[in-house]
Amino acid sequence: MSRIVIVGGGAAGIELSTLLKKTIRKEDEVILIEPETHHFWKPRLHEIAAGTFDSDLDTVCYFTHGAKHGYQHYQASMTDINRDNKTISVCGAMDDAHYEVEYDYLIIAIGAVSNDFNTQGAKDHCIFLDSANQARQAWHKMSYILRASTPHTVNIVGAGATGVELAAELERESRKLLRYNGTPLTINLIEATDRVLPNSPEKMSHKVQQQLEKNNINVLLQTRINEVTEKSMITIDNRTLNADIQFWAAGIKAPDWLNGIGGLAYNRINQIEVNMDLTTTVDECIFALGDCAAIPQPDGGFVPPKAQAANRAAEHLAKSLGGFLHGKPLTDFIFKDGGMVVAVGHYFAVGSFAPGSKMESQFVLHGLLIRRIYDTIFRLHQKTISGMFTVSRLMITKRLKAIFKPKI
Ligand SMILES: Cc1cc2nc3c(=O)[nH]c(=O)nc-3n(C[C@H](O)[C@H](O)[C@H](O)COP(=O)(O)OP(=O)(O)OC[C@H]3O[C@@H](n4cnc5c(N)ncnc54)[C@H](O)[C@@H]3O)c2cc1C
Repeated sequence: MSRIVIVGGGAAGIELSTLLKKTIRKEDEVILIEPETHHFWKPRLHEIAAGTFDSDLDTVCYFTHGAKHGYQHYQASMTDINRDNKTISVCGAMDDAHYEVEYDYLIIAIGAVSNDFNTQGAKDHCIFLDSANQARQAWHKMSYILRASTPHTVNIVGAGATGVELAAELERESRKLLRYNGTPLTINLIEATDRVLPNSPEKMSHKVQQQLEKNNINVLLQTRINEVTEKSMITIDNRTLNADIQFWAAGIKAPDWLNGIGGLAYNRINQIEVNMDLTTTVDECIFALGDCAAIPQPDGGFVPPKAQAANRAAEHLAKSLGGFLHGKPLTDFIFKDGGMVVAVGHYFAVGSFAPGSKMESQFVLHGLLIRRIYDTIFRLHQKTISGMFTVSRLMITKRLKAIFKPKI
């Protein structure tokens, strides 16, 4: 019998926990270490921050999900790894109790956090959207501002998927509330490079920027923030951008505390260095995947930090590790990028598609249909963890709720 301990129940971790039971041996045990009680699909955190997320329908309780899918959930955070004893140290989320958990195979999927690049004042004066808790705190502040009825300004640093989706969602909410004497909101979306979505095809950046500007969002390109104060951001060329609430959504890194633990190898953004088969370069009983792992690819690049990649890696590892426990060799994870979809509000999205091809040759589509494809990506994740029947029921319930619930 082997004990498999998965740390982190996000896009990668919960899929892996669900799928492993189907591939490993009957006697093997799966434990999921995760400090939250419920799983949230991280690409939707901006909806929590804007107050548009339906937590009744779109979250999964680890306790009941684990009971149904054959894994045990420990509500705790990993704090250290002891490779000599094959144990990890964890801290209970509710009681702060410290204890050790033994493993035969350890799989780390703790995701990433925003990278403030040590910008002065960013930690103290910006809201980060790294967890459901932070997103909820953001909503408490936003809901107050949206009801203030006097003009307010929001600064958002980073025009990647997170910043773009957050800006669009806040704009939509404030526009809706204007009818009820809500707050006229000015939104500054601040980006250091010369285009929004700098890691996407140029055509996609162009279309997204057009849509943002159509929605009266100020897109400030080539604007690098040097310092953040309580109510403003100061650029490197000394411009001051005043705001009532400020978000930081630029760049990612694995959490600082991870770097160095267990004597594993880490890169400069704290990601764990792994081989193509997802074993860490230092210890073949420890695996890492998702945003916290630097996964090399045959072309010399690395798997990008995105939800689709985390899901695919989880599916791959479930099969590969299952096979390994049945005596087969581990297999390499080769990521075929199917493109990317970014939502700009509830009725518009822009997507770049072309499985496996180079970024410049991907084709870009936009509109309501692409917005529906964006939703499908989340539904596919839900299907993996809950099955088609549950997803169908959730979709019908959501539709009925949208039709029958009062507008306000
Ligand atoms: C607002 C937002 C919008 C995004 N939009 C998109 C998008 O449109 N498209 C896209 O492809 N990607 C998007 N992303 C990125 C995407 O969410 C990530 O790439 C993906 O979630 C990574 O999956 P993961 O499993 O590695 O980590 P996560 O999904 O972040 O999960 C990590 C889990 O680990 C847990 N954890 C953390 N620390 C510990 C610890 N010490 N011990 C135990 N557990 C721990 C966390 O609670 C969490 O549940 C977005 C991200 C954000 C924040």
